[in-house]
Amino acid sequence: MKSNENFKTIIEPFRIKMVEPINMTSEEERKIILKEAHYNLFLIKAENIIVDLLTDSGTGAMSAAQWGAMMEGDESYAGCTSYYDMKAVVQDLTNMKHIYPTHQGRAAERILFGCLGSEGKIIPNNTHFDTTRANIEFTKAKAIDLVIDEGKNAGSLFPFKGNMNINKLRALFEEHKGTDNIPLCMLTITNNSGGGQPVSMGNIRDTRALCKEFQIPLFLDACRFAENSYFIKKREEEFSNKTIKEIAQEIFSYCDGFTMSAKKDAIVNMGGLLCFNDDVLSVNVKNMLILTEGFSTYGGLSGRDMAALAQGLREVVEEDYLEYRIKSTAYLGDALTKAGIPMVLPIGGHAVYIDAAAMLPHIPALEYPAQSLACELFIKGGVRGVEIGSFMFGSLDENGVEIPNTMELLRLAIPRRVYTQSHIDYVIEVLKLVNKNKDKLKGMKITKQPSLLRHFSAELSPA
Ligand SMILES: *Cc1c(COP(=O)(O)O)cnc(C)c1O
Repeated sequence: MKSNENFKTIIEPFRIKMVEPINMTSEEERKIILKEAHYNLFLIKAENIIVDLLTDSGTGAMSAAQWGAMMEGDESYAGCTSYYDMKAVVQDLTNMKHIYPTHQGRAAERILFGCLGSEGKIIPNNTHFDTTRANIEFTKAKAIDLVIDEGKNAGSLFPFKGNMNINKLRALFEEHKGTDNIPLCMLTITNNSGGGQPVSMGNIRDTRALCKEFQIPLFLDACRFAENSYFIKKREEEFSNKTIKEIAQEIFSYCDGFTMSAKKDAIVNMGGLLCFNDDVLSVNVKNMLILTEGFSTYGGLSGRDMAALAQGLREVVEEDYLEYRIKSTAYLGDALTKAGIPMVLPIGGHAVYIDAAAMLPHIPALEYPAQSLACELFIKGGVRGVEIGSFMFGSLDENGVEIPNTMELLRLAIPRRVYTQSHIDYVIEVLKLVNKNKDKLKGMKITKQPSLLRHFSAELSPA
């Protein structure tokens, strides 16, 4: 037994060598800052945030070993050592034949769907992440979400709420049998848009078998493959004695390729991967990569970026790291649940999702309760989360009337290795205070908005 297993406190399995100061603002200052940002937290300067839980994407802290590896990055235009080192690490983990770097996850998606998507094509997934869906729809192909019903029920405690609905997938495959309408099937691990919920190995195997039966390639959206592997180890008995790396290797053995944003589980600030086995696809991908990202041995990344990425992939499968990562996210979620704040359960890997519709029933969906909560959290404590609800995903019907989203969530995403337990304790304290006065919170209205992806730049005011 490791010495930290006797105690309840989750100690960070790292020490801090370098620090960044946090600018401590006052509530009065933050009221002005928020007003000047038109109540949109994306428009606030990061220097005015105390604890930034906007996203876990590219916001992680690199290790000394990663910074050290960066100094040894080889910046040769073609055939740099850093590419071949990274390729070896990725192949050891995934056994894929073709390994292409990209500048981030969506670039891998754009190239993959640029090659395989077009009008009339259909691409199923448990739940497409927003950039994945957008890149598919940009080719005029159709993106379909087929997550199991438990995955859509915020209160369900099912351990693998990211699972693919195998019956629905079979029905879709049957419907298009004998056509080439479905160029590939995707599976997102963990299911980011569904609350960071994992997919079980059993479900990955079933998805694989079905894809094989219908001869449809299976691709993973593997951004959080290590967090998903950790959940498999803890929740699927067969894997309790396997290492995270062994579990990850088995997961990748079932797919024909994957896209990955390295800004998540590769713990770098920028980077992505597009990897697969198909030689014919490789010719097309390579052409597109060279056209839009860069030569095939750097694909939009510096040599030093690939060196850090390779080291990040070695570190992320360490069990002590993942134990701390998953437990510290659950620590925040459990404390808030205990305080009576409703949320998506079980707690996912990278974030907690507060159910603002349940917490603030007096604010209608089209007055954006989760945005109101996000603003209050910033005013009271300088904490930044992100609304995932009708402000982000609301749409207009054919008469121009706004249709609300199905859920009104406030996501608090945890950057990797950045904040300590005392930062999280502070967030808990702020949320408890906000919860105490929740009846006084008021709705919001949009005063100005662009036609696409409005949450990034729209302006709001209290309703
Ligand atoms: C972040 C993310 C992406 C897109 O990656 P970027 O690096 O932000 O372009 C795709 N899929 C999932 C599941 C993600 O979490």
